[in-house]
Amino acid sequence: MSRPAPAIVILGSGSLNTARRIQQCCSEALIYGLAGRVEDVDRSYSDFGATLRELYQQGTPIIALCAAGIVIRTLAPLLLEKGAEPPVLAVAEDASAVVPLLGGLGWVNDLAREIAAGLGIAPAITTSGELRFGTCLLNPPSGYALGDLELGKRFVSDLLAGEPVRIEGDAPWLASAQLPESQQARLSIHIGSAEREPAADELLIYPRNVLLKASAEVSAQTIREALHEAKLAWQSLACIVAPDTLMGSAQLRETALELAVPLRFVSAAEQLPVDWRESGSGLKFGVALAPLDPQQIGRARGRLAVIGLGPGAAELMVPAVKAELARANDVLGYETYVRMAGPFRADQVLHCTDNREEMQRARHAFELAAQGRSVVVVSSGDPGVFAMAAAVLEALHESTEPQWHSVDLEILPGVSASLATAAQAGAPLGHDFCVMSLSDNLKPWSIIEKRLDLASEADLALAFYNPISRSRPWQLGVALDIVRRHRTAQTPVVLGRDIGRPGQTLRVITLGDLTPDQVDMRTMVLIGSSTTCTFPRADGTQWVYTPRWYGEKP
Ligand code: SAH
Repeated sequence: MSRPAPAIVILGSGSLNTARRIQQCCSEALIYGLAGRVEDVDRSYSDFGATLRELYQQGTPIIALCAAGIVIRTLAPLLLEKGAEPPVLAVAEDASAVVPLLGGLGWVNDLAREIAAGLGIAPAITTSGELRFGTCLLNPPSGYALGDLELGKRFVSDLLAGEPVRIEGDAPWLASAQLPESQQARLSIHIGSAEREPAADELLIYPRNVLLKASAEVSAQTIREALHEAKLAWQSLACIVAPDTLMGSAQLRETALELAVPLRFVSAAEQLPVDWRESGSGLKFGVALAPLDPQQIGRARGRLAVIGLGPGAAELMVPAVKAELARANDVLGYETYVRMAGPFRADQVLHCTDNREEMQRARHAFELAAQGRSVVVVSSGDPGVFAMAAAVLEALHESTEPQWHSVDLEILPGVSASLATAAQAGAPLGHDFCVMSLSDNLKPWSIIEKRLDLASEADLALAFYNPISRSRPWQLGVALDIVRRHRTAQTPVVLGRDIGRPGQTLRVITLGDLTPDQVDMRTMVLIGSSTTCTFPRADGTQWVYTPRWYGEKP
């Protein structure tokens, strides 16, 4: 199974060199640097503790270039919580030491060895079984599952005490281990998919070589019972395989989740490399000679996420969007936004298109997702505000492809430009407001005029997206004439340009002073209502807000 990409966390530019060398041996790892202290990293963060804890909770492996003590103290509050423990390592800034700290039953030692090899040093491995036998018996390679951790720990301490061991079954990875093997040994390592009672003198390791064929919806309980009847260990279940037609089934998803196995879909014609056995209850199990790699069987239910990046700054991107970008196989969008969403790993495919090809892009996204891929369509700001979410839903609505309709589709919100701009100015949208796009590409200009007139008359604060462009040079002037029929020249106006991006500007002026040449297509225009007011800030600029009340102050 694929391992998540590690985060290399550094505090200053003194560690950048070592971080880069580590990145060379773990090419998928991203470098996280403290904002203001180091530049030219993959991700910037402003709070070390919060960032480390967030990474840990997301299950991201952490390679921290700082003192082990700092890492331990930072993560300490989380260590008593249950849940998966990602590998956590401390690496000396000068690349002289690699110390695996947490995730010892996972692959932290593998990661430590990999990094140490890249840096040309010896890793500080401290797990005794691993030191003695050259492998962690309690952490079999992918494709195998350990029977019971507590019994396993006892078993390993017996081995460490000097007892010999027998190996029953096929365990290719143990061939290179330095185990004290003897055919007469009391202790044995048993590898097999048959159901077996755990015993203290046996270390049970199950190959994941069994798959269940679900031709209809089925519960986890039914599968457990059928496995028992067939005398197969539930730990050996590698995946559930279902026909393509069941891809939309919520019940099957729940079953797979409960059994913690992947759910894969195959067409009726697909052949699987297993020996079929039928259980008494009519469920079919396929047993293979070696562990099965579910990734190679049929396909997963495809996923399509339409995400909003926010205005641009990484801190304003919601965590769910970051997680979605990390799991994406394919990323589609207007080139500028795809670049903004990066950096990406070498295995992620980018499909950059022109800003105007929205419907085509939406259909392409469904085609990719229907193949079982994890697809992300990027928008700036919020995907539901003059952006890709509506185009994607329109494409789905028009489609009769059952495969498209069973894709796991999710829209993940972002901070829209009007809200990001308003926040910087104060609270100009603090009361009722109206959001409009001034683009007449997809709607008649007459409807824009009508809405402008009525919204202005209703005394709503106004937020204009797409205010002007080279192909729409005169529209903004006409729009302002309409607004001026209902608002005084003193009405506050906020112009936010490239908000949250390099070179951003924020200006507070009045409606009387506003001319279309102050505005371009990267500008957000906010026009106050009759109650919107301004007052000076300590730094000489203006706060703008619209009070929450209307009419008489309560
Ligand atoms: N989905 C986007 C809006 C896309 S329409 C969102 O929710 O923000 C594009 C328009 O949004 C631009 O013409 C501009 O008016 C505005 N805009 C987008 N990003 C902006 C930013 N960072 N600063 C100012 N305006 C922005």
